[in-house]
Amino acid sequence: MSAVYRKSLFNIPLGMIYLDGNSLGPPLKEIESISENVIVKEWGGKLIKGWNESNWMEQPLSVGNKIANIIGGDKGSIVAGDTLSIKTYQALAAAIHLKPKRNIILTDIDNFPSDIYIAEGLVDSFNSNFELKKVKKNDIISSLNEQVNTVLLTHVNYRTGAMFDMENITNKVHENGSTIIWDLAHSAGAVPLDLKAINCEFAVGCTYKFLNGGPGSPAFIYVRPDLIKKCYPILRGWLGHKAPFDFNNTFEKSTSIEMMRVGTPSVIQSSILEKSLDVFRDLDFHELREESIKLSDLFINMVERTCSDLHLESPLNSSERGSQVSFSHPFSYAIMQALIDRNIVGDFRAPNIIRFGITPLYVSEEDIIQTVKVLEEILSNRLWDNPTYLNRKKVT
Ligand SMILES: *Cc1c(COP(=O)(O)O)cnc(C)c1O
Repeated sequence: MSAVYRKSLFNIPLGMIYLDGNSLGPPLKEIESISENVIVKEWGGKLIKGWNESNWMEQPLSVGNKIANIIGGDKGSIVAGDTLSIKTYQALAAAIHLKPKRNIILTDIDNFPSDIYIAEGLVDSFNSNFELKKVKKNDIISSLNEQVNTVLLTHVNYRTGAMFDMENITNKVHENGSTIIWDLAHSAGAVPLDLKAINCEFAVGCTYKFLNGGPGSPAFIYVRPDLIKKCYPILRGWLGHKAPFDFNNTFEKSTSIEMMRVGTPSVIQSSILEKSLDVFRDLDFHELREESIKLSDLFINMVERTCSDLHLESPLNSSERGSQVSFSHPFSYAIMQALIDRNIVGDFRAPNIIRFGITPLYVSEEDIIQTVKVLEEILSNRLWDNPTYLNRKKVT
């Protein structure tokens, strides 16, 4: 087993090969203590006193600091809360006000829909000639010009797993005098990240994917420390105020990253997340990355050899790929259903992609070999051609 493998720490159904940690990570076994410690003792035992006595109010910052350790941010540069869609709105709204003379937001046309919708909604709320420009990923750099205010990109594409060269793009955006926001939804907890070295202005991400925080766990926002004083929150909730319990009727922003807080934090979910993040404390991300590449390359090579009907949608070159492998096939939805029926869980993204999250914390080489074996059986015997597999569920 690899040095990063620690499946015994997780609650994953016996016999299941779980290849969907890029969509929803599994719970740590240790999480079960939350029910006694946080629900029974803190909430039930202390009720309203819990806010002070159990440091619930500080949690968004303490969780943010733990995330900072994982993605290479300074202490006090990240706060947790809300959902990624909200955090994307906040980052974008803060960013564009830093360059008032520039009127273009540039993004990848294949970005995750929420990132695009949020940007479009923000642009629509202005009475000006502000514009969202969506271009193909290879045209991002050539689309930079003196009108580009902010570039909003997701580091690893949710559909294909294609990964941007974060350093190169950030440098090009900065040379152009523009601001960059990195969405780390599919990279935090999956690939080595060093926000300080990259020097990006903003970053956002969610925590229920590779960070295993559980369904609906809080998102996070990073603001480069020198900008915390300069930028202004547009979503102004009471907890972004510098003194929320003064209950002033005029907003004065917090002087810390807490200005990006909005409302009451989700204490139970944050407590789960806080424990989940501990799994990364002693983890060497370069070892994790190495193992992820080894498993992904093995997967791709074996599929190429034995399942030639599947078309690779991820980059073949591992340096251009996150921790996910995707294939397409005209009947990919049914193929995935057949696979799930055989206790191997990945997922499907319209129109025709099946995705496999490669998470070396709980996926081994044997799991990959077994997955390809079952895939081959499904394909060569057309086991996917079954009416129950063709029926599209609400969540795919
Ligand atoms: C998963 C994901 C989201 C989801 O946003 P939520 O507000 O957490 O539902 C947004 N953007 C990207 C790039 C994602 O991968």
